[in-house]
This record gives sequence, C-alpha cells and structure tokens, in this order.
Amino acid sequence: MTTKEIIEFITSQDSHKVWEAACRIINMGQDYDKIAPLIAHLPLIKAKTEGLHKGGGLVSKQHFIDFAIKTIEFHESSHECPCALYVKEYQLNNDVVTRMHQYDGFDPNREIEKGNVKILNTTLIQNNQGYSYLVECTKCEEKYQVEELEYHFQWWHWKRVIKNA
Ligand SMILES: [Zn+2]
Repeated sequence: MTTKEIIEFITSQDSHKVWEAACRIINMGQDYDKIAPLIAHLPLIKAKTEGLHKGGGLVSKQHFIDFAIKTIEFHESSHECPCALYVKEYQLNNDVVTRMHQYDGFDPNREIEKGNVKILNTTLIQNNQGYSYLVECTKCEEKYQVEELEYHFQWWHWKRVIKNA
C-alpha cells in the first residue's frame, strides 16, 4: 500500500477501507520514514474520520482510527523513540489516574519480524494463559515485558521495564 493509497483509503469514509488504512498506519508506527509523508495530511484525515465509527462491536473501529491518528501525531511532535507507542499511557487529573486510549494489538512476534524489537526471554504465564516476553527496542534498548492475553480475541499488554528497579 503506497502513501497515496493509505491517504485515499483513510479519507474515503468507507468503513472497511478506513479500518484497513488505520491498521497499516498503526503497524508501521515504528518507522518514521513511512509515517512522515502522512503528517501533512493529518488535518484532512481527522476531518474525514471524525465520528465515523462511534460505538459498535467489541473493539470499535474508532479505536483503530484513534490510534492511527495518535501514531501520526506522535511522529509529528515527539522526539521520543516510537517504542513509546507500545505502552499504555496514564494521565493524572486531580489525583485521578485516567487511562488514555492505547492499542493492544502489537504482537511481539510481528515486531521481531520487522526488526523493531529483539527477544531476550520468553516464559509461559501461569495457568497456561499465554506467553510473557521480555523484549528490547532495537533503536533505544528500552526493555518491555509483554504479556499475551486472550479475552474473546488475542491481545498483548506491553509494560515498560523500569531501569534499576
Ligand atoms: Zn525505543
């Protein structure tokens, strides 16, 4: 899928095409060179996808659109390593921790294939619920503990490993 096609799809207002393009964007989130050409189109992408998939489904398509936009915004404004996109973010509001939207679809095995992370250790989670992976970002060497979980569908919970803890 070329940049042009991704932009065509995500601004098409066609439910399936929009979702497909959003997944593409999310999955190339570690690659600045691939996301960079999309940054200039962000206002159009936001305008065309606004409120397109409110509600519906176990995992609303809006969730994918929101995270695709977040991925582009990250590359537009952040100087952090993009592996920050793997982890959940929390925001403190008047002493209440609010969970910001995040994406639970990053399969560590896919990320290894793309060369984004390397695996340091794999363990089976107790009760045979799945695997827990210790991985390291190949760009900045940040370490992540990734738990594979299954609840109607497979998902992965990434946690940043705090240094010297
Ligand atoms: Zn990194």
